[in-house]
Amino acid sequence: MNLEGHARKRHELLEAASRQVDLAARKLGLNPGLLKILKEPKRALTVSIPVRMDDGSIEVFRGFRVQHNLSRGPAKGGIRYHPEVDMEEVVALAMLMTWKCAVVDIPYGGAKGGVICDPKRLSPGELERLTRRFTSEISIIIGPEKDIPAPDVYTNPRVMAWIMDTFSMQHGFSVPAVVTGKPIEIGGSEGRNEATGRGVVFTIEEAASRLGIDLAASTAVIQGYGNVGSVAASDLAGLGCRVVAVSDSRGGVYNEKGLDLAGLNAYKARTGSVAGYPGGQAVSNADLITLECDILVPAALENVITEENAPGVRARLVAEGANGPTTHGADEILYGRGITVIPDILANAGGVVVSYFEWVQGLQNFYWTKDEVNRQLRRRMADSFREVYRLKERHRVSMRQAAYMLALDRVSRAMELRGLYP
Ligand code: GLU
Repeated sequence: MNLEGHARKRHELLEAASRQVDLAARKLGLNPGLLKILKEPKRALTVSIPVRMDDGSIEVFRGFRVQHNLSRGPAKGGIRYHPEVDMEEVVALAMLMTWKCAVVDIPYGGAKGGVICDPKRLSPGELERLTRRFTSEISIIIGPEKDIPAPDVYTNPRVMAWIMDTFSMQHGFSVPAVVTGKPIEIGGSEGRNEATGRGVVFTIEEAASRLGIDLAASTAVIQGYGNVGSVAASDLAGLGCRVVAVSDSRGGVYNEKGLDLAGLNAYKARTGSVAGYPGGQAVSNADLITLECDILVPAALENVITEENAPGVRARLVAEGANGPTTHGADEILYGRGITVIPDILANAGGVVVSYFEWVQGLQNFYWTKDEVNRQLRRRMADSFREVYRLKERHRVSMRQAAYMLALDRVSRAMELRGLYP
């Protein structure tokens, strides 16, 4: 896609979030002044990141950290490494984090970070130096009571370990609670790695029981086979669902009888991708969206369900594992067609929920078992789903609208109670 196309897509993400906020604000009769505050990020930092490359040359990367709203607690949200990330995208994603944390009622505001780079083309040493220098540059606004980063697209526990170590070195002692999604050995939580995908499936279970979908006799299509999509696939398969297609950035694979996930995982471990897996036929990322199935899980990047392909979506249920996968226009088309969409700010909140558990465990130096983490995660996701569903029924709106109403109500109450400084 050309640069103009990317700019348009990013613009759509902010536009979609902003329109949902307007609609929810109108339904709630929100004070227009509060709405004005909520439309802008509280703080946005751009940094340049000089890195010594392996060949001895110096490259300068650009990075961002945005805090959208801090009324309900410190800022929380991931850091993504991607060649096309930019400030506008990070602002939109930070705003989504504010709503996400409010929907699942954890005491955080929203944040997001990004570094413009292609991590697949950096050596481990370059990636480490980039991460450490970026951490140092944003260290003026992050910290356990200020802003707590976490993994996002193309960042992982290893990157979080470097963030934790760099921040700790600057302070002269270990500060595990500065970041979540860390390896367990240095204060990470059991179950954090799987939490986003697992949470997606918990919300699918809740939706399926209300829509009369028997998961044991259902089929699912999953776009994105990374940290979110691969766990969602295996958890769905564990419930008896046939996962008929999956994809990643290089392409997808389809088998109407259901993919053999063990074989697929071994293939991906060997080749680095699901594309070309011999246990099915090739399918493009574009065609995957309109495959026949009960459940569609977009778990890659934003703006993949558009006005162009939404009329062709054949799933009954869409669970947004990614942030912002459905454009505003597409969302209206899906709603009009009676397709239930579990919105990103609810469906994929499991990651930040277990990040919260990790942060709490770190602050208390008291660690939970995996069973305890998963039990608490399920309860939090099921309760949040119920609250959103109840609002959706009461106001006859989409689940996304209901989730925004719940979030906006919680955030605006906090803002009203705290009042405007000075
Ligand atoms: N990056 C994840 C998200 O978009 C997790 C954020 C976190 O755990 O703070 O929700």
